[in-house]
Amino acid sequence: MKRLLFLFGAFILTFTVMSQNAEFELPEYDKVEGLKTDGVIQPFLDDFLKLCEQYNIDYHDKLFKLKEIVLVDTLQVSPNGGTLGMLVRGKNNDVEKIIFSWMTLLDKEILKVVAFHEFGHYFLEYKHICDDCNKIMAKVNSSYFDIAQDWDYHVKNLFINSPEYLKQQQKKK
Ligand SMILES: [Zn+2]
Repeated sequence: MKRLLFLFGAFILTFTVMSQNAEFELPEYDKVEGLKTDGVIQPFLDDFLKLCEQYNIDYHDKLFKLKEIVLVDTLQVSPNGGTLGMLVRGKNNDVEKIIFSWMTLLDKEILKVVAFHEFGHYFLEYKHICDDCNKIMAKVNSSYFDIAQDWDYHVKNLFINSPEYLKQQQKKK
């Protein structure tokens, strides 16, 4: 287990170093873009934004306001799993960061579900829809694997039942 922890530590270190390099090499791009995203989360963000387009949900303003989408080792870990992801607000109460616990790296499926959950809070204006009901927006997920197994179904429901999507539908009427 110690060796595993060391490996994860090395992982995180690599990501940190990589993102710093990117910042250093592309100062102008960074200023315009203003968003730092960890490489492991990027594919899930890309997928999520593609789906936003598919469901006609405008994400550009919100994406522009974000500063970081990153893995951290500061989220509380408890025997029950603890907090795996969180939106971090700045002084004016705007969301500035979306952070994920390094624990999500233990399994790609966990990271995927947690990423879509946090993006659901931010881009789709979701609050939790239940305590533990095997849905992406549940407060607690006892089984990420049930959701991951039926992924397309859960993602479709996440979008068509979202406050942001329903708001769009209302406007059309
Ligand atoms: Zn949540």
